[in-house]
Amino acid sequence: AYLDRITQVDDAVGAFLHVDAEGALAQARGVDERRASGTELGPLAGVPVAHKDVFTTAGVPTTAGSRILEGWRPPYDATVTQRLRAADMVLLGKTNMDEFAMGSSTENSAFKPAHNPWNLDRVPGGSSGGSSAAVAAFEAPLATGTDTGGSIREPAAMCGLVGAKPTYGGSSRYGLIAFASSLDTPGPFARTVHDAALLHEAFSGHDPRDATSLDAPVPPVVAASQQPDIAGMRVGLVRQLQNGSGYSSGVTQRFTETVELLESLGAKVVEVSCPSFEAALAAYYLIAPSECSSNLARFDAMRYGLRVGDDGTRSAEEVMSMTRAQGFGPEVKRRIMLGTYALSSGYYDAYYGSAQQVRTLVRRDFDAAFENVDVLVSPTVPTTAFPLGERSEDPMAMYLADLCTIPANLAGNAALSVPCGLSPEDNLPVGIQVMAPPLADERTYRVGAALE
Ligand code: GLN
Repeated sequence: AYLDRITQVDDAVGAFLHVDAEGALAQARGVDERRASGTELGPLAGVPVAHKDVFTTAGVPTTAGSRILEGWRPPYDATVTQRLRAADMVLLGKTNMDEFAMGSSTENSAFKPAHNPWNLDRVPGGSSGGSSAAVAAFEAPLATGTDTGGSIREPAAMCGLVGAKPTYGGSSRYGLIAFASSLDTPGPFARTVHDAALLHEAFSGHDPRDATSLDAPVPPVVAASQQPDIAGMRVGLVRQLQNGSGYSSGVTQRFTETVELLESLGAKVVEVSCPSFEAALAAYYLIAPSECSSNLARFDAMRYGLRVGDDGTRSAEEVMSMTRAQGFGPEVKRRIMLGTYALSSGYYDAYYGSAQQVRTLVRRDFDAAFENVDVLVSPTVPTTAFPLGERSEDPMAMYLADLCTIPANLAGNAALSVPCGLSPEDNLPVGIQVMAPPLADERTYRVGAALE
């Protein structure tokens, strides 16, 4: 049924870069056969899932939304992919994304933009916009994403879905094509908090193949998603993440009502100040490009995918340069240049060094806040989904979509976006973000469940 739905609507939605109909049907039949023979099945047996194209899938094309990886079939599965398979899920295909996960609208995909199923002239968010569009358009019940600066929470909010950024190190990056390694975090998309929790638990947990993976039990998010009781919970309203210029009045209205709802459910709401959050966006846009400039050096025309100009007359360096010039899109090039500059000697302390200091201050602001509250809340995105094309020529406007989500990435915290109604301005979905300390992911799910 989901494959049929994809056939019907995906030309208009653009959620998938690759649909693996044969593979999906074979997996589904395999599950049926093993069920019939009485074999024990994985926890999500037979449930279809749309998988972000940034995770390697053995033998199945994986592009990370980039021409430079066009035609590449990885020889191995990412840990997240492996765990989806171990849960006996059915992998429908690979979802559209901003190239190398750099963007907030999926318009930086080298192949095609994805569209917001609520209004096809609007963006579905990004960078995991193919995943959010797929679930919102009923092309899949669940999807995976990655969140480096907001790429799960922002598209979830824009498409009226639940999306979680687990604690950094709580879900494995092994086989996740790297953008900014100190921030990249795999997480789930779903229509409900409980569904998101089921997927979250299915692929999370310690992985010896990722050096930053936490050797700790998976936070009990499934149990929390069934305990919507928040009486007595202390909820902090981040002063720096609301009401400023750039927040649309429809978002502010729904957010304010949702905070009142939390109060009426017994939560104790207080305002909290996190002054360094005002510098978080600027710090992120030095740290993420710096890490990307280093990570993307591996695309050297020799190892994977595209190779341009290799006609026997050119040097390896020329081939590398031609391949990278043609293979990377404008946003990726912008970030490689910014990052290379920020890391270069003479500028390192002023840019990268200062950004790392801001990162420490953000972490301290979180630590201080969590001495007095259990969770922090803010709107997930300052606006609803914007029109396709509106911000694609204006990187700064695009970067502002991540204003509220970035602090949790810099500090490695757990965060969840939950729908909180439609904006009265344009009838598009609004999301509220719930943030918790590292490894306290379950708190965000409890609040999410209370709001459903
Ligand atoms: N939109 C942010 C960026 O462009 C975040 C992306 C992400 O989380 N992958 O970097």
